[in-house]
Amino acid sequence: MKYKGRYGQFGGFYVPEVLNGVLEELEEGFYRYYKDEGFVAELESLYKDYAGRETPLYFAKRFSEYVGFKVYLKREDLLHGGAHKVNNALGQGLLAKYMGKTKIIAETGAGQHGLATAMIGALFGMETKIFMGVIDIERQNVNVHKMRLCGAQVIGVQGGTGTLKDAINDAMRYWTSHAEDTFYLFGTAAGPHPYPTIVRHFQTCIGTEARKQCLDKLGKLPDMVVACVGGGSNAIGIFSGFIDDKDVKLVGVEAGGKSVASGKHAATLVAGKVGILHGSKAYLLQDEDGQVYDTESISAGLDYPSVGPEHCLLKDLKRAEYVAAEDEEVLDAFEILIQKEGIIPALESSHALAYLISLKDKLTPETIVVMNLSGRGDKDVSIVEKYRPVK
Ligand SMILES: *Cc1c(COP(=O)(O)O)cnc(C)c1O
Repeated sequence: MKYKGRYGQFGGFYVPEVLNGVLEELEEGFYRYYKDEGFVAELESLYKDYAGRETPLYFAKRFSEYVGFKVYLKREDLLHGGAHKVNNALGQGLLAKYMGKTKIIAETGAGQHGLATAMIGALFGMETKIFMGVIDIERQNVNVHKMRLCGAQVIGVQGGTGTLKDAINDAMRYWTSHAEDTFYLFGTAAGPHPYPTIVRHFQTCIGTEARKQCLDKLGKLPDMVVACVGGGSNAIGIFSGFIDDKDVKLVGVEAGGKSVASGKHAATLVAGKVGILHGSKAYLLQDEDGQVYDTESISAGLDYPSVGPEHCLLKDLKRAEYVAAEDEEVLDAFEILIQKEGIIPALESSHALAYLISLKDKLTPETIVVMNLSGRGDKDVSIVEKYRPVK
């Protein structure tokens, strides 16, 4: 391939021979259209009128008083579909259209990316198939129902543990024999090249807007930018606006520590070792024999045993710091944001909030922190209710 898609030693495309040509066609298509005037104009218009960009940068006054420093929330939770995922789904969906594809497929774990893809499939009138582990289908039946309402076919994946890792394998396998008319709309800034580059590109709108909003509103850049990390797309989206600003500290927060549900951790960058999964070299959660294990935390959206290659490099370069938040802290953070601001955060985003709360009274009052509120928590209310019944 022309562009190797390497981030230091990470990334690349470790895929079976049959996928090489398919990924190459995708790479070519991306580089042909991503700066194309017509493509850019159409995407801009969809971001604005369909998804609801730009999203506000909101000063969370009562939450700031609580933690003792200034917190600005980038409100990706206000987007259509309730999270940043629509940015990527719109970008890749439009790319599919420009590349002349008539069908799309996607993998999903918690169902959020599956739903974003199903919405975009309906929007563009494309036949849509969503690969989803059978265990996840059971756990996420509301999202499954919404995908079907959009007209998507949800395909149950039996293999392995019936979760996200297996859904990706099956979607890749299906794609190898249907690439002629089918576009694989991948959900996060991971997987084989060119996906980390493509997904990053369609999420840079978060960081570009946030940087400009800081300069317009505050007259300066923030001291710190914080985001939660699953595969890494929302975090790389907001980090991208500030990576070259060396004085801005970047912090990614993973699902970590002991899960209330299983006692296993999902903190890939904090606890992982270098290995290869889904065609990409990255930090991975694996046992001594190199077996990749399934992650588990209260927020299904962060349960991915690998992470995007650029985050691995940012960690090694010490340009970004990665920490983990435990389920109990995350549940506290979820409740505190609602009580202080009347905003229901996604459990994924609550990991980033939990990190801010861990800094309570430890930073000067003038410190400015921008946090990416990656999604809204309506989908999580009944999960939280299980652990923290409202009296
Ligand atoms: C899917 C999801 C995430 C995790 O995915 P990334 O690719 O790491 O951003 C985070 N927050 C929300 C709300 C999500 O839906």
